[in-house]
Amino acid sequence: MGKLQIGGGAPVAVQSMTCTDTRDIRATVDQIGRLEKAGCEAVRVAVLDREAAEALKTIKKSIGIPLIADIHFDHRLAIGAMESGADGIRINPGNLSRDKLRLVIREAARRKVVIRIGVNAGSLEEEIIARHRGPTAEALVESALAAVAFFEDQGFHNLKLSLKSSQVPTMIEAYRKISTKTDYPLHLGVTEAGTLVSAAVKSALGIGTLLYEGIGDTIRVSLTGDPVGEMGIAWGILRALGIRRYGPEIISCPTCGRCEIDLISLVSRVEERLAGRKEYLKVALMGCVVNGPGEASEADVGIAGGRGRGLLFKRGKATKTVREEDFVDCLMEEIDDILASR
Ligand code: SF4
Repeated sequence: MGKLQIGGGAPVAVQSMTCTDTRDIRATVDQIGRLEKAGCEAVRVAVLDREAAEALKTIKKSIGIPLIADIHFDHRLAIGAMESGADGIRINPGNLSRDKLRLVIREAARRKVVIRIGVNAGSLEEEIIARHRGPTAEALVESALAAVAFFEDQGFHNLKLSLKSSQVPTMIEAYRKISTKTDYPLHLGVTEAGTLVSAAVKSALGIGTLLYEGIGDTIRVSLTGDPVGEMGIAWGILRALGIRRYGPEIISCPTCGRCEIDLISLVSRVEERLAGRKEYLKVALMGCVVNGPGEASEADVGIAGGRGRGLLFKRGKATKTVREEDFVDCLMEEIDDILASR
């Protein structure tokens, strides 16, 4: 999709979607710029009318990641978005008639545009819902496979699939089932996941479980709020599973009665200083010498606290004792040194 390979063993890619009015080009480009900076690798924008489809021309020229147009109901907007240079389009098969879909497929084939068949529990075909007595995992799979069969009948294979539900078990089951029936790349997501904590929990469980099982090629954490906040969760999931390494990983203890330094403030100050860094690095911030040295010695750099002081570890070795007021500056110096030596 554009410069981004999806599937076929390529790294799992992180996607997002803007929440701006796509016709407001400046706001949309600004948000995509912030998303890119935070690690977004492909972005989707809503295309509601011709003006939005037209705006994609300028947006596309101003960003560095593949642009995906999200289309519902009107096939002419899908065609317009492709004419404006969209690298991918996302359609919901339940929202377009087969005749109109044929026109979209013809244009996508001509322009080598990727189409995501985005099946959503909230907008399944009525007849499928009735047969399955609800938007079950089986219903999502049936809807997606019927759409795939139609695309394949038209000779179109440049597809990726998503089967989203706001119910984590349904979503997990649907992706598991479809992964045994087709080899198309899968875009994972829990839809309508809510605000920060809820989105992080649902996504980590839904997306994380599937990735751990080897299922999934792209992911999107959906968050009610600024989509830039999705990036930390998405990359956190990939990092935690050891699937991709991006950005600093901070290991910090929960603190307890043994802690004799202000660890909470230390962690937030280090996080602040490391914000926006793309390089992977493990930083351990531990409250005391019980578990501290063990964890810190596993990290690229770390501190194990004592009374107003801390032991600094670098690449597994204790290097020096540092005063608490110097922790942050000292850590940042060591981090810069490690990154410069790579
Ligand atoms: Fe408590 Fe020390 Fe463990 Fe932190 S590392 S939780 S301070 S025992």
